[in-house]
Amino acid sequence: MIMNKAKSILKNKFGYNEFRSFQENVISNVLTKKDTIAIMPTGGGKSLCYQIPALLFPGITVVISPLISLMKDQVEQLGSLNIEAVFLNSSLRKKEYNHNMGLVRDGRVKLLYCAPETFMIKATQKLLSEVRVDCITIDEAHCVSEWGHDFRPEYMRISETRDRFPHAVFLALTATATAKVQKDIVSSLGLKEFEKFIASFDRPNLFLQIVPKVDPLRQTLDFLRTHRKKPGIIYCFKRKQVEQLCEGLQENGYIARAYHAGLADKEREKNQEQFLKDEVQIIVATIAFGMGINKANVRFVIHYDLPKSIESYYQEIGRAGRDGLRSDCLLLFSYTDIAKFKFLLKKKEDKERSIAEKQIDALVEYLEFQDCRRIPLLKYFGEDYEGHKCETMCDNCNAQSIGETDISSYAYKYLFCIQETKQRFNLSYITSVLRGVKNDKVFDNKHEDLRSYNTGKSLLRNQWSIIARQLVVLEYIEKDEKETLKLTSKGSKFIRNLQPIKGRLTEEPEEEIVLNSNVDIRQIAIDELTRVRKEISDNQGLPPYAVVSDQSLKEIAESLPENKQDFLDVIGITEFKYKKYGNHFIDVISRIKRENGVARSNSDDMRNQPDSNKFIQIGEKYNKGVPIREIAHEFDLQYTLILDNLYHFIQSGGKLNKIEWLAQRILGKETLEKITEAYDTMGCHRLEYVYDHLGGKVNMDQLKIIRLYYLNEN
Ligand code: ADP
Ligand code: ZN
Repeated sequence: MIMNKAKSILKNKFGYNEFRSFQENVISNVLTKKDTIAIMPTGGGKSLCYQIPALLFPGITVVISPLISLMKDQVEQLGSLNIEAVFLNSSLRKKEYNHNMGLVRDGRVKLLYCAPETFMIKATQKLLSEVRVDCITIDEAHCVSEWGHDFRPEYMRISETRDRFPHAVFLALTATATAKVQKDIVSSLGLKEFEKFIASFDRPNLFLQIVPKVDPLRQTLDFLRTHRKKPGIIYCFKRKQVEQLCEGLQENGYIARAYHAGLADKEREKNQEQFLKDEVQIIVATIAFGMGINKANVRFVIHYDLPKSIESYYQEIGRAGRDGLRSDCLLLFSYTDIAKFKFLLKKKEDKERSIAEKQIDALVEYLEFQDCRRIPLLKYFGEDYEGHKCETMCDNCNAQSIGETDISSYAYKYLFCIQETKQRFNLSYITSVLRGVKNDKVFDNKHEDLRSYNTGKSLLRNQWSIIARQLVVLEYIEKDEKETLKLTSKGSKFIRNLQPIKGRLTEEPEEEIVLNSNVDIRQIAIDELTRVRKEISDNQGLPPYAVVSDQSLKEIAESLPENKQDFLDVIGITEFKYKKYGNHFIDVISRIKRENGVARSNSDDMRNQPDSNKFIQIGEKYNKGVPIREIAHEFDLQYTLILDNLYHFIQSGGKLNKIEWLAQRILGKETLEKITEAYDTMGCHRLEYVYDHLGGKVNMDQLKIIRLYYLNEN
């Protein structure tokens, strides 16, 4: 009965349809006023465990939390959901402080957040004795334990207050799993007849990937290309590295800021604040970053250097994807880093050194593990994942499903060709020689006489690129700053003494492959909606994800709702949010639809629209010689959408006539070659990357035409 009410609050106040598996148990236990410990990983959804009961209890819920910045964040977010909450801590000026006290006294708020110090002082205790307190939530409850990583003496005193609040149930929340800490929580808080709930520590939305550290800046830039404009954190070991990398990223056009203990407080706070507001894309940090932030839409975490233990690794990657959407965690792994780290440990005392060494060894075991990464990771937290597999969310599972094969004979051809051409050429050229291309450059170099020439016809150009990229990662080849390929000593050795190499001949699945015009509209929609969200958030002084979450935004971009009902179907959108922001979004959505030739229609029509045969009609028209502009006119679509339809046509096996002629007429042979080279190395599914790579000198439509030519040829 009461749980039905809880569910209706979940839907109407928070906009979610289902409880996560054990939120329901925790909430139901708290509502019957039984003391509760809930242990859930970061991002598991702890907040709802006390927020929903708070809205059902007649009195107030006090939330004791050690982190001032988190309190502010939480209160703002609740405000954006029209839930009355305030906080009390030392960051407030006297006037605000008194104002908030008054709101509590008058029973005007359902939730009061306060720091443990604040909770213990007389004035607060007096205030709370005048109202009815139904629940005392102790957030980050591991702070009571000296064994935890974050001991706070004031937490030890919370239990003294127990008798003063006869109506209050205690709810202790933490993400720390060790048994010792759990025991301390029970005894220090004086919990009675409590129930304990432990959620799985698996974070199924995090993609785990470990790669050998070869050329870390280059590798980071490659990774970032697939995370355009998405917020993320990069962890480095040392301040100096933070500074260097940050500069490197800025030079490459990224909005990145540093965060480490050497910066002035003001600057550090500013960088963090801008990151929260999506004004800075990337924070490059030493491990200190992240404790005090609650940004739900961190889309990636990169470990540029080694973390110091599995525990820290888990904490750090845990800052990604708290909104439940896919987020990527990349670690660059090098044995040199381990050696350096162990060398530093030599200076430490025996006991400390031996603990640290054990931690590093456990970490290395995880990094070298060949099966699903979640098996060793969860085992570390005492969970049994043996016999399971995440299937698609770690590099090892992916490699198995993609089907790695022995690529050594191709590797040999490729490396040998590099050697034969005297290590003076780039990826694209080596591929041309292997595939026996007849062009001026090859003839000028007399490379048609080489042994390698024309021995690589059995693979397509892009397959050779895939081989080359793997050889770089596996350290058989290195690239210099001009992209020239050179053999490493490992590579030269391999030519003399062939060994099996496991690898792939196909592309790893792209995050989102652009296949039809509607997906393009979705990208436009995401960009536009993100812009509007930013405007609203600036106006309201809220972080963007508190206006609507990334997940809501993504759903809006997919369904493009134009009326209230469709809007309320989007996850996380409540009546209140609809009233506040609905119109802003609907205006933009209508404009997007108008400008992209999408008829006003309900969401289902919209999804069905990928014109099951329109692209075929368009392809056939083109092949009959009708100029693209005329086709655009006839179908009442923009020029660019016709190009997308032709792309779709080729992707589904069609061939286009005279596309080479068109491509050359538009761009000239030389530029054409440059662009096809770019497609060789970068792929041609995400043209924005190529566009950026060419410095915006070739426009999107031109890139699309060259892509048609490129795919047609291959
Ligand atoms: P924690 O405090 O455990 O780190 P949060 O309480 O901040 O996690 O929740 C993490 C994210 O998950 C938030 O964006 C929250 O809105 C979302 N969330 C929580 N519970 C649900 C649910 N039942 N359905 C959908 N999203 C949820
Ligand atoms: Zn896996």
